[in-house]
Amino acid sequence: MRLSSLKVATLKEVPADADTASHKLMLRAGLIRQLAAGLYSWLPLGLKVMRKVEQVVREEMDNAGALELLMPCVQPAELWEESGRWEQYGPELLRITDRHARDFCFGPTHEEVITDLARRELRSYKQLPVTYYQIQTKFRDEIRPRFGVMRAREFLMKDAYSFHIDSESLDETYQVMFDAYSKIFTRLGLRFRAVTADSGAIGGKVSHEFHVLAESGEDAIAFSDSGDYAANVELAEAQAPASTRQPPAEAMQKVATPGVRTIDDIASFLKVRPADCLKTLLVEGADGGVVALVLRGDHELNALKAAQHPLVASPLRMAAADAVEKAAGCPPGFVGPVGLSVPLISDRSAVAMANFVCGANSTDQHLTGVNWGRDLPEPDVSDLRNVVDGDPSPDGQGTLTIARGIEVGHIFQLGDKYSASMGSGVLAEDGKHRTLVMGCYGIGITRIVAAAIEQNHDARGIVWPASLAPFDVALVPINMHKSMRLRQAAEALYQTLTTAGYEVLFDDRDARPGVKFADIDLYGIPHRVVLSDRGLDSGTLEYKARDQEQAEHIKQTEFLDFLARTITNAV
Ligand code: ATP
Ligand code: MG
Repeated sequence: MRLSSLKVATLKEVPADADTASHKLMLRAGLIRQLAAGLYSWLPLGLKVMRKVEQVVREEMDNAGALELLMPCVQPAELWEESGRWEQYGPELLRITDRHARDFCFGPTHEEVITDLARRELRSYKQLPVTYYQIQTKFRDEIRPRFGVMRAREFLMKDAYSFHIDSESLDETYQVMFDAYSKIFTRLGLRFRAVTADSGAIGGKVSHEFHVLAESGEDAIAFSDSGDYAANVELAEAQAPASTRQPPAEAMQKVATPGVRTIDDIASFLKVRPADCLKTLLVEGADGGVVALVLRGDHELNALKAAQHPLVASPLRMAAADAVEKAAGCPPGFVGPVGLSVPLISDRSAVAMANFVCGANSTDQHLTGVNWGRDLPEPDVSDLRNVVDGDPSPDGQGTLTIARGIEVGHIFQLGDKYSASMGSGVLAEDGKHRTLVMGCYGIGITRIVAAAIEQNHDARGIVWPASLAPFDVALVPINMHKSMRLRQAAEALYQTLTTAGYEVLFDDRDARPGVKFADIDLYGIPHRVVLSDRGLDSGTLEYKARDQEQAEHIKQTEFLDFLARTITNAV
């Protein structure tokens, strides 16, 4: 492509709300433009990258034996009523009404539509197993669309659905898809991890997420330094501490702590560590009352784990301010477990504490030297917290490291969640009717583009992995508009490289070298070749890889071989 034909300017400045590297760089390089919150247009360079992602995903889905189809974006409400999700899904579901006052939604996902298709088309066990996929636009009215296309409202997803006669067959396909996902992210040149995950609102039991590792990731993932264990922090089990509880060594005392509410503030006020303080959180109980959850001060509550406790409301909701006042007789910053007359659940680490600091259930007061068993009854114990760096791995092998990740794929074993509620089954070999067993498999195509940039950029711009780069080679002639000889040489090289099968971005603009270099670096093209009159005099070209600092001079006659070798070695 000739860069002069693009007509999209690169930007120096981006709007203040562009808050991640990928969002900024996608705007600066002219890959996307925002239409409204969470809605983006993909400009030619951006679309080229998105298509590369799609291509790899499509090839690996085809290799895995999945069949491509395409379902409508707009879905009738009746199907969602059958599955129960018309009620459950909440405001993320964009509901629309047609001219006949019939309800529809813009699909955030397609379990209902595919299950309806399956109940019409699949009659016999002989048609199973089968996996269908599509690459298609989804809409989710995200409460906080952010990070550009990473968490958009409209986005492109590959979603696949598999149908089985039994769970053994699902297990087999699930493994095939797991492997296909690993191939996809490997081919895309991304550093990633597959982790066991929560299956959330989609339902089902077994599920894995695929995360691209990046500092800016919204998810925290935990993996063992020596075993295979890897899980979303939401799910990773926190073990009880190895050391036993110390015996009481201090008397319980009430101390004045005027206006000191947070754990960090109380720790510095009393000159203790946050780990010596007990954090008490009042949440809504399953029976409508209030339940107290206690954690070590340096630990974070895990909302999913807490909501799984039978006494706690699911999903987890913090108790309202007036309910806290009523239960504890003080504002939230001073609540503690001593003398509290609501059910109390302690995290495994909190119950191992001794001589700790906690709120005194009266404004501006805390207790010190508190001990379980002596000053308050032994509590009900449960795993309530997020694991932290250095915790033992739940599988008993090694310790956990916490890393940030961007979820780019998610696979689930759905079981009969949709097929049972929607009556989708087949005749089995024994002539009996069997409800279908299902799996579903998503990949965020557009999110991958942003995630790849989060993982691969520097101060000058994007550094595309080879498989995602919109072009293989940037061809940059210097002052071509003043030299006929240079123009001819550049045009000839453009033809040669294109004929050799490379995708070439020919910077034929009449612009200063500095401007051209800055743009080519921003675009992140893996290989750059510079042509100049001086180089032609000596029969050389100047070559630089995007991730190299120094350019090197290559003989003009040897350039094609050199490039072929460099690209092969890099892959
Ligand atoms: P998240 O936890 O990030 O909201 P999810 O669990 O809701 O994701 P799924 O329903 O599993 O996502 O959708 C499959 C894939 O679609 C995700 O792995 C992700 O890559 C992508 N995806 C989901 N929501 C968005 C969004 N708002 N913008 C872009 N991509 C998205
Ligand atoms: Mg979501």
